[in-house]
Amino acid sequence: MKQPVILNDVATLRALVATWRRAGDTIALVPTMGALHAGHVSLGKIARARARRVIYSIFVNPTQFAPHEDFAAYPRTFEDDIARLAALGADAVFAPTSAIIYPAGFVTTVSLKGPAIAELEDRFRPTHFAGVATIVSKLLIQCMPDIAIFGEKDFQQLAVIRQMARDLDLPTQIEGAPTLREADGLAISSRNVYLSAAERAAAPLLHRVMREAASAIAAGENPSGVLDYSRQRIERGGFSLDYLDWRDAATMGAPAPDRPSRLLVAARIGTTRLIDNLAVPAGEKA
Ligand code: AMP
Repeated sequence: MKQPVILNDVATLRALVATWRRAGDTIALVPTMGALHAGHVSLGKIARARARRVIYSIFVNPTQFAPHEDFAAYPRTFEDDIARLAALGADAVFAPTSAIIYPAGFVTTVSLKGPAIAELEDRFRPTHFAGVATIVSKLLIQCMPDIAIFGEKDFQQLAVIRQMARDLDLPTQIEGAPTLREADGLAISSRNVYLSAAERAAAPLLHRVMREAASAIAAGENPSGVLDYSRQRIERGGFSLDYLDWRDAATMGAPAPDRPSRLLVAARIGTTRLIDNLAVPAGEKA
């Protein structure tokens, strides 16, 4: 099995990318925070199919966590991650330290509007997308890939990144990848390891409610009634709901006729916060 090259600094990353470019190779980047699971691997498979070279980044980005969030506790499984990436045939892993990414004196961030301030995650994590946009723009500039793959699992994040890449003329194609789920429908997430057995058993309710709500809206039922009923079901199922909303899939604003739309949810069970989303199929009334 081929071991991926592990790179820790930007100059070495750029030198390797330059070698590949001279050989005419195309390059795909899969940004992650590590604790890799089957969902992350599915992104790499798409990357493999789209480019000759695949780079994963592994960096638990401190600036996208608020002080009260789980930055220190976030699972870190570097050895296992590398084994998974070797099995996948990834060419390189960029795993910088915080000091490389945010050296002393670092002050610049990307300022966002549009999908980043359309409530949803931003209401509960008001500093989150600035941190995401800053690290993603740095990674794209450091690596200059032809394509970068992001999961639809973090749907608002994907919308923010697409908007940013377009607005800043970043020369990388942003590709969304479908959410990989457990057999019972729970979206696979690095944070699922926090769930107790009872919470894990309750967690698939989120996806079940979303599926039923999406079909009901597509079938022409009154959306606010469907959303209210779905919110109640989630709360009765033991969750504390942050939001469940129906939005335009690109702008994250109000859904508009004849445009793709999405249901998005965030809910806490015990100490774990889960997010998920689902497309609302174009129904008879859409
Ligand atoms: P993270 O390490 O959680 O920042 O995730 C890295 C990338 O993997 C992001 O683009 C996520 O949207 C994506 N991702 C996380 N979970 C899944 C999943 N279950 N299916 C597909 N992609 C995922």
